[in-house]
Amino acid sequence: MSLVTLHDKQFKPYISAEAIHERVSQVAGNLSADLKDSFPLFLVVLNGSFIFAADLVKMLKFPCEISFVKLASYHGTGSTGTVNEIIGLTENVENRTIVIIEDIVDTGTTLAKLHNLLKHKKAKQIKTATLLFKPMAYKKTIPVDYVCMEIPNDFVVGYGLDYNGLGRNLKDIYVLA
Ligand code: 5GP
Repeated sequence: MSLVTLHDKQFKPYISAEAIHERVSQVAGNLSADLKDSFPLFLVVLNGSFIFAADLVKMLKFPCEISFVKLASYHGTGSTGTVNEIIGLTENVENRTIVIIEDIVDTGTTLAKLHNLLKHKKAKQIKTATLLFKPMAYKKTIPVDYVCMEIPNDFVVGYGLDYNGLGRNLKDIYVLA
C-alpha cells in the first residue's frame, strides 16, 4: 500500500482491509451472541457507514431488519432552537431493540442526538456498533457497546469514510500523512 492523495492532502496506510475484516467478524459474533433472539432493527447512519454495515450484516445469521437513516439538524423558527430529526426512518421503533451502526464515534454528538430521538420514540433497548471510536475525543456518557477499533484523534479516510467527498471507495483505512 502506498500514499494516496485526496484533494490537497496526502494519506498513508493505517488499517488494512484484512485487519478490518477480522475485527468486523468478531463484532458480528458478539452481536449474534447478544441479540440473536431479539429481532433487532439495525439503523445504518449514512453516508460513512455503508461499507462497514454491508460487511457486518452479511455475517449476521439471525432474523433482523436493516434501515438507512441520516440525522438532520436545522434551526427552528423563533425560540425552538436547533431541531434534530431522523430522516428515512419508516419503521416503528416502539418497544424494539435498535442497533445504531456508525462509521466513527468522535465527540459522540451524533450518537447522543440519535439516542435521544430513539428514546423519545420509545425504543425498548438502544445499542451502538461502530467501526471506529476515538475515546480521547468522546464527550458523552452513553456506552458505545460494540467497537471494532479504537483510534487516537487522527483524521482517517477509506472503507466508507471520506475527505470532502473523496476516499470512500478505498478498501483500507488511511490516516493523514
Ligand atoms: P461526532 O458527532 O461523534 O463528533 O462525529 C461523528 C461524525 O464525524 C462521523 O460520523 C464522521 O462523519 C465524522 N468524523 C469524525 N472523525 C472523522 C474522521 O477521522 N474521518 C472522517 N472521514 N470523518 C470523521
